[in-house]
Amino acid sequence: MSDQCLFCGIVAGTVPSVRVAEDDRTLAFMDINPASDGHLLVIPKRHSKDLLDIPAEDLAAVTLATQRIAKAAAQVLGVDGLNLLNCCGADAWQTVFHFHLHLVPRYLDKTKDRLVLPWQPGVPGDVDTITALGGKLSAALG
Ligand code: AMP
Ligand code: ZN
Repeated sequence: MSDQCLFCGIVAGTVPSVRVAEDDRTLAFMDINPASDGHLLVIPKRHSKDLLDIPAEDLAAVTLATQRIAKAAAQVLGVDGLNLLNCCGADAWQTVFHFHLHLVPRYLDKTKDRLVLPWQPGVPGDVDTITALGGKLSAALG
């Protein structure tokens, strides 16, 4: 729990939110600036800054809770698809530094859906660069 953290305030109930589901480790609540109808956030109750900081058991719990909520959203919201998004670091668009997964329902009906792809799909990369970076990561992982 961090006194400065907005999402710790939501866990504690001192900051208002529309709560959707919770268990021992996780809380899900609606995003106040939704990218689509039903956009929500799933967080660990215990404070972690980001993907690099969160303990494995909290990450596992958040991921499993997100799948459970995704199945409910698929049943009751009439979605055409779903996206999961995590931003890790300010340069990767993270604005709240308490780990969260965005669960964004997707709709063919664009009056319900404002999410757009942040990269141009289907543009081939440089094969040498892809191979070199893959090798560097593979070597680091052992
Ligand atoms: P990110 O940019 O990935 O860190 O996402 C932070 C998300 O938190 C944004 O989508 C915000 O709309 C959302 N958000 C910020 N403050 C609140 C709040 N008080 N209640 C619910 N969602 C919030
Ligand atoms: Zn926090």
